[in-house]
Formats: sequence, structure tokens, C-alpha cells
Amino acid sequence: MSSSLLFSDEGQNEPVIESEDATVKASSTAIPLIELQEVARTFTTGGGIEVHALRGVDLKIYPGEFLAIVGQSGSGKSTLMNILGCLDRPTAGKYLFAGRDIESFDANGLAWLRREAFGFVFQSYNLLGSESALENVQVPAVYAGLNAHEREIRAESLLSALGLGDRMDHRPTQLSGGQQQRVSIARAMMNGGNVILADEPTGALDTQSGIEVMELLEDLASKGHTVILISHDHEVAAHADRIIEFRDGEIVSDSGPKAANVDSKNNTKLRELFMSRKASSMMAGTGEAIRMALRSLKANIFRTMLTLLGIVIGVSSVVAMLAIGEGAQQEIIQIMNQLGTNIVTVRPERLPGSFRSMPSTLTLEDAALIGTNIPNIVAAIPQMQSRNSNVRFGRNDTQTSVVATTGDMPEVESWPLAQGVFFTNGDSENITSVAVLGSEARADLFPEGQNPLGEYILIGNIPFQVIGILTSKGAQGFNNPDDSIYIPFKTGAVRVFGKDEADEIRVLIDDVEQIDQTEQNVLEYLTALHGTQDMRIYQNTSMLESTSESQKTFTLLLGSVAAISLLVGGIGVMNIMLVSVTERTREIGVRMATGARQSDILSQFLSEAIVVSCFGGVIGITLGLTVGLILQRFEVPIYFSSTPMLLAFTCSVTTGLIFGFAPARKASKLDPVVALANE
Ligand code: ADP
Ligand code: MG
Repeated sequence: MSSSLLFSDEGQNEPVIESEDATVKASSTAIPLIELQEVARTFTTGGGIEVHALRGVDLKIYPGEFLAIVGQSGSGKSTLMNILGCLDRPTAGKYLFAGRDIESFDANGLAWLRREAFGFVFQSYNLLGSESALENVQVPAVYAGLNAHEREIRAESLLSALGLGDRMDHRPTQLSGGQQQRVSIARAMMNGGNVILADEPTGALDTQSGIEVMELLEDLASKGHTVILISHDHEVAAHADRIIEFRDGEIVSDSGPKAANVDSKNNTKLRELFMSRKASSMMAGTGEAIRMALRSLKANIFRTMLTLLGIVIGVSSVVAMLAIGEGAQQEIIQIMNQLGTNIVTVRPERLPGSFRSMPSTLTLEDAALIGTNIPNIVAAIPQMQSRNSNVRFGRNDTQTSVVATTGDMPEVESWPLAQGVFFTNGDSENITSVAVLGSEARADLFPEGQNPLGEYILIGNIPFQVIGILTSKGAQGFNNPDDSIYIPFKTGAVRVFGKDEADEIRVLIDDVEQIDQTEQNVLEYLTALHGTQDMRIYQNTSMLESTSESQKTFTLLLGSVAAISLLVGGIGVMNIMLVSVTERTREIGVRMATGARQSDILSQFLSEAIVVSCFGGVIGITLGLTVGLILQRFEVPIYFSSTPMLLAFTCSVTTGLIFGFAPARKASKLDPVVALANE
């Protein structure tokens, strides 16, 4: 049908308005823009007393009318206005907007009507205190999804037209009452202001400002806007074309609409107005939400700081604690590596039934083959050893252990030299007579102050030249590696021990996590090589297990302390957000009156929570790093890795989201009239 009024909207659950067939048929009878049928509004007070603010109001308002509702204080004018502006719903009766029953509109539908059709002007202006005049005027367009540039241009031209061109950056408190009311009129006009609802707009103004505001409203009415004015003052109401008198929630007189307004042409005009209008049902964008969040966080800087503090403490403790935990773990791993948990030892094993005196079958070649052919092995060294050999230097005589090994020994045992060099595999091949002394062997043989390097010692009767001294392992007791002398493997085989077979092969594992698999591989390899399993493999698993157990407990402890701090931070966010919602109830009401959807309010408060926790996260990470670096100065083992930092950041944002959700939801579910009435 050609006359159907279609408000197209993209995918949102906002209403499609069509005029009903019955109304359209009688083309001579115009469809009122607003029609109230027997509208009543009853409030139930806390004490259970019913207040009948409206008692069955019938009213038709046509497009382009300039209408004044007069009546004494308490007669129900504001209640009527709130219902007309879709801030409140009637308890009984019907409200038709452009022929459509608003009963069928959900919360989003009403927000859409407030945004697209109405513009509110309040007695107390209701501007947002934290925003400039220019920003206040833009609010309705933010919710209509107009882009920032167009929005600003339109707001500027509106303010200039209302004589506030030089006051755009002023906050409401920096403006006079008359100026604030003009800002609020500009805001009402922002989305077109088809229907201007002005509740005692001059009530708080001096005479001159009141006259100016009335002139503005008259001007708007003459330009085709429907203006509904509420006043207790008959002189003010006299500016209007139609005067309705109100008493005790009922209409007592109505001067009636002007014939020109009832003319159906005006209806067409209205329809065109609505049709031509881009039905923007987009939610305010993310960028907008963040910008608004930043503004309001800045406006409440002290509260913001407190919220930040909670998050900062939580995040920085996570970062610092995990760095300490990780540092301790790394240190334990290092110590364990020094102790040789990443080493497995292959020893010969006599088969049952074989002779006790049967010699070892492990050879230098076995070690070399393992080293090259099995993955995850850094090096494998064969060793043969005597417990008590006679060693002599000059007149000093001592009993010490002599170990024949290869040039890889310092690497495998993580054992650096204090002085000189270690022998090479070449020395072994050439059967060179060189020796490297453990620190205790050196102390036994050489007087303090004498440099042993280059000197010759006698092992048995064979002279060996000292080429290096090992650092002290600090070990004690039986089979002390410090109380040993190290010589090349082949030299030992030929000159000292008179045999080829190794007593053991020490194997350095690369990735300790896979130690069991590697051990298995070594065993299988050697068994295949020898044709029989004549060896066994030993590792220090028991120590590895007990240390990793205690490490797990330690990490768990630190982790829970950190988690508790984050939780406390989250509760802080929630607490302060709840305070913020309570404190800003009126702001929420104003935003709703200018057309914010529940989802807009929700996303605004959530954005604030997320922005705060992002900031808190970044500051917390920085602080945690700083604490870690300071501790490092005091030689506490610290190890930073990116995972806990990322984790802490994600956690803080998630905390903000989770703990911010309940307050944000509470805000979005507020009733617009109740929120607006909040002082
Ligand atoms: P007016 O704007 O004409 O001064 P109102 O519409 O504000 O009058 O109020 C009409 C009547 O309804 C008054 O008696 C007022 O006390 C009552 N009223 C208004 N709002 C509420 C409310 N939220 N709860 C209870 N009573 C209310
Ligand atoms: Mg009132």
C-alpha cells in the first residue's frame, strides 16, 4: 500500500511501522502523530499507597502542532510527558504513535523512537557534566550511528545557530542557565527533533533567558517541528497554538488543534520526513565507546586511580611472582644439570652364569657410535678409573684416583677449568702423557703458590705433564671428583691401566624431558651392536622426581597467591563500577532519553571496565618487571618469559570483563524515568 509507513532497519529488532488499513481508508481523516486513548498511570508508593497521576487521558496530537499543557504542580504533566516521550509506559489505555500501538515496541523499539522521533528539553537541562557543549549536543547522533565528522559539523552548526558558537568547548558548569538550555535544545534537534518535548523549559531561567528559549521553540514550531510544551505558567503557554489544561491527572479543557495541522498534507510531510531519514540502527561503534569510556574515566580520575590500583597490584604480583618462581626453577634445573641429572651412565653387567672376572665389553668406539648415531645426545665419554694410584711430584706423595677419559669430559660434566687447558681427543690418539688435575689433587701435590702448569708428575712410574687445573666442584667424601687426576683415554689404556675396555660410558642428554626414550635407544643400540644385552643404564631419576615435585608445589603456591591478588583486583573493579553506576544513574537516564539502547549502556560501562583493566594490565606488567629487575640486582634468581605476562594481561582484561559485566548490566536495565528522576 502506497501510504504505508515503513521504517526500514537493518537487522535490529526495531519496529516496522505500518499504518493500519482502517485508518488509511478514510483519507480525509488524518492519522494523528500521537494518539492517547484512556491513558492512565498509577504509581504504587513504597507504603503500598496508589497514586493516580493520570486518570484516563484522551488526546490526539497532529504533526506540526505547537501545543502547551498547563496545570498546577502535581497535576500529572510530567507523567504525561514521560509517557509521550516513551520514557515510561501507561498502566492502562493505549498509546498510538503514527497509528502504531507502542505496546508492541520492546525496549530497543522505544529507544529507537526516542532517538529518531523525539527530542527532550528538561527544566534542569540534564546535560552530561563531564562533556563539553559540543559533545553533549552530539550524544543522540552517537546512538544514531552518525560518523564523528558529520556529527561534529551538525552539532557546530546547531550551536552556532543558537548563538553558542563561542561556547562549544565549555562544560555545562561554565555556562549560564539560558545557555545550558540552548545547548539542550540543540541536543534535542540533533537527530532531527521531529517532536520536541519541553518540560518546564523556562522554569529555572531568568525572565530574559526564558523569553529567548520560548522564541526558539516558537521558531522551531514555525519550521514544522511538533512542539509539546509543559508549563504551570499561562503566560508562557500563551505562545502555543493549542492549550490543554490539566488538573488531577485529567484534561479539563482543550482549545483544539488548528485546522491546518489536521490537514492530511502535513501527514504526508511527516511521512516523508520519516521516510527520507536514514534509519540508522547501528550501535555506537567500538571507537566511540572507548572514547566515551576514556572521557568518563578522566572525569572521575580519583576513582579511576583506585580501580587501577587493584588491577596493577594483581597483575604486577602475577608477573613478579612467576618471574621469581621461574627463576627458582631455572636455578634448580641448572643445579640438577651440574649434578648430572641430564647424564645417564652405561655400565657393563655380567650376565647370569657368566664368570665374575669377565671383562667389560664397553669400548671407546661404543661411546663414539652412541654419540653420533643416537638423537638427543650431546656427547658420550668412555671412562676407566683407578681408585688409588700412587702419584708423586718432587717429594710429595699421594694416593689419588686416576681417570682416563676423552676431551669432552668438561662439557659432559659441566666442569670448567680454572687454569690451563683440557686435553683433546688428538692427545688421546697420540697417546700423549698429559694430565689435568682436580683442585684437591693439586693441593695435595703442589705447595701453595707454585704454578703446576708445565710441571711433570709421576703416575706410577710414568711422567705426565700438567696442562690444566679444574675448578673445584665442592664435592666431598668417597670418590671425590676434585681428588682425581684426568688423563687421555688411550694414554690411560696403554700406559696406566693396560686394558682397552671402559668401566663406564657417561652420556650427556640434550632434552631431559625425553631422557627415558633416549636411554631406551642407547640400550637397544648397544644390545644390537654387541649381540647381547651386557650392559645396564643408570640415571639419577629419584632426585629429578623429588625436585620437580617440590618445584610444582612452589609454583602452585606462587600461582595461587597471584590468582588471589587478581581476584581482589577484580572485586575492586566490580565494587567501583557499582559505585559508578549508582553515582551516574542520572547520566544513564539522560543517555536513554536521547536514544541509547540497553546495549549501548552495557557496552559503555563494559568499555570503561575493559579500558581500566587494560591500563592496569600494562602498568602492572611494567611494575612487575621493575620489581623483578630490582630483585635481580640483589641476586635473586629471576627469569622473565612472555607467557606469564601475556597471561596476566589477558587475565586482567578478562577480570575487568567478568567483574564489570554485572554492574554494566545493572546500568543497562535501569528504567529511563527512574534513572532520570535520580538526584
Ligand atoms: P507535575 O509535573 O504536573 O508537577 P507529576 O507528573 O510530576 O506532576 O506528578 C503527578 C503526581 O504523580 C504527583 O502527585 C506525584 O507525586 C506523583 N508521582 C509522580 N512520579 C511518581 C513516582 N515515580 N512515584 C510515585 N508518585 C509519583
Ligand atoms: Mg513536572
